[in-house]
Order: sequence, then C-alpha cells, then structure tokens
Amino acid sequence: MSMLNYLEKPIDNLNNNPSKKNANINKFLIKLGIYKLIAFVLRKTSGFPIWSNLEIDIQSACNRDCEFCPRYHDRSGIRKDAYGRQIMVKMPSEQVYQFIDQASRLGFKGKIKLHRLSESLLDKRYLEFAQYIKAKGLRLCENTNGDVLRKNEALCVQLDGLIEHLTIGLYDYHNEQEKQTEMAYWRSKFKQTEVAFSIPPENCTIRQGAQVYLEVMKNPAALDLPCTQPNRMMLIRYDGNVSLCCEDDGCHFDLGNAFEQSLQEIWWSYKHIKIAKTLEKPSGRHRFKRCSQCYNGQERINLLQRKNSN
Ligand code: SF4
Repeated sequence: MSMLNYLEKPIDNLNNNPSKKNANINKFLIKLGIYKLIAFVLRKTSGFPIWSNLEIDIQSACNRDCEFCPRYHDRSGIRKDAYGRQIMVKMPSEQVYQFIDQASRLGFKGKIKLHRLSESLLDKRYLEFAQYIKAKGLRLCENTNGDVLRKNEALCVQLDGLIEHLTIGLYDYHNEQEKQTEMAYWRSKFKQTEVAFSIPPENCTIRQGAQVYLEVMKNPAALDLPCTQPNRMMLIRYDGNVSLCCEDDGCHFDLGNAFEQSLQEIWWSYKHIKIAKTLEKPSGRHRFKRCSQCYNGQERINLLQRKNSN
C-alpha cells in the first residue's frame, strides 16, 4: 500500500476510532519520521498557512453544567464519566510549556487560549502559564464563566493586562437590566485587558452534545455551508489528542496526539489538509458524519425568548 493510499483511505471513515492495526502502523510511521518529512514538504509546498488560533486545554473540568454546552451530554469519559461525573485531569506542565515553545518557534503570532471545553481558571497554574506566554511575546486571549474571578479580586488584578482579550460568559441574567449590571461589574475589574461578553441566553450556537441541540428546530441549509474552522484552529485536548474544530471534542477525526508528535507534523499532515480543503467547499460537510450533523453555522437561538414564550 502506498503512503498516499494509506493516508487517503480513512477520509470516508474518519468518524471511527482507528483500529489497533492502524494505530500500530501510525506508531511505526511516527518512529520512522515519515510524518515529519511529510509535514516539512507540505509546509513548504502546500500553501496551507499556520493556524490563527491555538487552544491548549490545560485541564479537563468545568464547575458548571450548561445545557447549551457540548459537554452537557458527554458520558464518554472525556469530560464526564458514564454516571455524568466530572473528569478531572491536568495536562502536564512541561507539555503546556512545550506547546507554547513550539508555536513560538514556528513564528506563530496569533491568539493562545488555555481551555477547550473547560474552565481554565480552575487551574492554579493559570497565572504562571499566562506570564510565560506574555514573556514570549505571544497573545493570551481567554474565555471564562467568571466564577473563579468573582471570588478572587487579587487574581483579577494579576491577570489585568496579562490577558489581552477576555470573553466572559454571562449565563445567569434574566433581563436587560441584570445583563447590563453584570457587564458594568466586569468592566470595572479590568483596566488593561479588553473585555467582551458571550451571551448564550440570547445568542446561543447550536452545538452537538448540548441539550439545546436536541430541542431546537434545525435548518438543513446550514449543512451546505462551508466550514473554515479546520484551517484556523489548532486545538489540543488535555490528553494531547488534537480536535479538528470546536465541535470535535471527541477528536473523532484521529488527527494525532501532540504528546507523541509535533504540532507541525499534525497540522501539516496530508490528512488534516485534505479534510480542511474538503470542508472549505459548500458541500464539504456531507463528507463526514460529524460535520453532516453540525448546525453551528445556522442562525443563533434566543433561549430567553423561548423560555418566556413557553
Ligand atoms: S462542519 Fe465539521 S469541521 Fe466544521 S465546525 Fe462542524 S464538525 Fe467542525
């Protein structure tokens, strides 16, 4: 079997985890340095640019359980176990530093976030990672539900300016006045960091794994939209596995594990580039099971309005 055939074959079968045999072949090819060589050639020749967003999931947990979040129904052992209990695992610190270093060596200048489907500020190491990123001249941007910061005034002061852009999720308000009060509170806490807000009660994306996904009307036209997330995002889960996009916390596309391979090898792999190029096209979503059920491009939902009208 030629290298090209081997890499091409999984494209219609990307949603299944690799068989043990495939995993062994992969390990063998990694050892031989084949993926390194492919990445080197494709980086130079493919015109496929480096990611613009890097997310490093420094730990697995979140203190909330929101119905609009893709982790809500997870029972796979990635975010929650079979009984719905939180999985609590930290990425080793040396791996976090290594990823930051690798990105810096590749000339990456975009945004770094220290979470995936998790609340990164639960991790006491957050401040030291933030300082390291800033010292490297890189840009730290973050999303948080704000719960840790609300109880820790000193941390707000320490992070002010270290984080370039902070998006705070407002999840608990019931009306415009409460929302505005919350916004004013958070703006008063940060003088140098740019603060923005996500407001899922009024502006909720439909995401697989969320309760909302099961309840709302979906627009089939959304499945014909091109998707460019795989061209922009390098997403490393706490266990090193790499997700294709924000909707792929299960790492269903089997792109590789960043504890075992370099970011360069994974990003400029034939498989990743081929998937990204397929999804750039309007009908691309229909090629992959996960994408053919992905309505994240459709009009957002106003949950407050829905609740009030029921
Ligand atoms: S279409 Fe596919 S690649 Fe794009 S966000 Fe949805 S699941 Fe991810």
